Amino acid sequence: MTDSRTTLTNLHPTPPAAKSLETSGFSQTGTPAPSSLLNRRSPLADPQAQLALLEQVPLAADSGDFDATLAAHGCATLTPQSLEIFQMNLGKLCNMTCRHCHVDAGPDRREVMTRNTVDACLRALDQTTAHTVDLTGGAPELNPHFRYVVEECTKRGKHVIDRCNLTVLLLPTMDDLPHWLAERNVEIVCSLPHYRRRNTDAQRGDGTFEKSIEALRRLNAVGYGDGHPQRRLTLVSNPVGAFLASSQSKLETEWKAGLANNYGIRFDRLITLNNMPISRYLEWLQESGNLNRYMELLVNAFNPATISGLMCRNTLSISWDGRLYDCDFNQMLDMEGALSDGGSTHIQDFEPTSLSARQIRTARHCFGCTAGAGSSCGGALDT
Ligand code: SF4
Ligand code: SF4
Repeated sequence: MTDSRTTLTNLHPTPPAAKSLETSGFSQTGTPAPSSLLNRRSPLADPQAQLALLEQVPLAADSGDFDATLAAHGCATLTPQSLEIFQMNLGKLCNMTCRHCHVDAGPDRREVMTRNTVDACLRALDQTTAHTVDLTGGAPELNPHFRYVVEECTKRGKHVIDRCNLTVLLLPTMDDLPHWLAERNVEIVCSLPHYRRRNTDAQRGDGTFEKSIEALRRLNAVGYGDGHPQRRLTLVSNPVGAFLASSQSKLETEWKAGLANNYGIRFDRLITLNNMPISRYLEWLQESGNLNRYMELLVNAFNPATISGLMCRNTLSISWDGRLYDCDFNQMLDMEGALSDGGSTHIQDFEPTSLSARQIRTARHCFGCTAGAGSSCGGALDT
């Protein structure tokens, strides 16, 4: 923890000050959020305030209720299917302060999963059928127990995913990490909003693109991105502005050519995500006057073909402090899993049977998962 803080200070001494925002896309001048909502004492740091703001968006009476929309398409209740993905959020600490962050992560956040909670997660994992452990954050690599979690999960034969922001790999303490992850067949899922410098820097801050390209080169150098099934390099793109994600397959072709021709970078697949109208992205939507339009866009683009693949149906999301949620978004909104028997939803009391019988909690933000081709941690749902 201490080491990470020291290194972070070196990489990002002072986040740049906020500048004005354009109306439909992020500013092109590279303006990460000045700090987390929590640090700025923004009212939107409170999940209840986020949910209330979303509920206040004026939408046609019959269109703004997510459960009613599901019911109208034959899904009376949203329930889990068999558990496939065990997603551990290792903390809110991050070396970046992206404007669109749904976690409100940043260098000023200090919440990280403890070894005790990590061990409780591993005991719980052993009671499940999950084949994949998805490590997310913040920057999961900054958790002091990151390598321990990876080792323990690979020992158990699990497919491990590291959700990596790329720039973290340039920290001096991370020099050996690409090679270390490659040796353990960890899939790297990297955020890179765009293959063009301008768009990526607009969302994540000036200089991010260059660092990301350098990190991708290091991953390529240890065998990631060459079609090796156990060294899969996945890029994640989300729109730079108040738009829906574009076609995943079309973008993948374009990105492969763009990164290969301009930078000699290789990767295996691209997944696209919609921006979820919560946390700092919600703040940006509100400040830029895009909130109503974006919510209308999400609601009007509801796609029933996405319902069966919603990630809350095959994933369990565990927060840095060991609480259990239907998905990472519900986690950020403090909507803890609802057990029908009213039992505890803490990892220390993990009980797979009652968890699998829970009803998934929903609210208006869920329209972000069902809009267009759909959106999940695994990318589009209706490809
Ligand atoms: S979007 Fe990712 S890289 Fe950016 S601040 Fe949030 S957790 Fe960090
Ligand atoms: S936000 Fe979570 S609970 Fe809502 S539809 Fe998406 S995955 Fe499911």
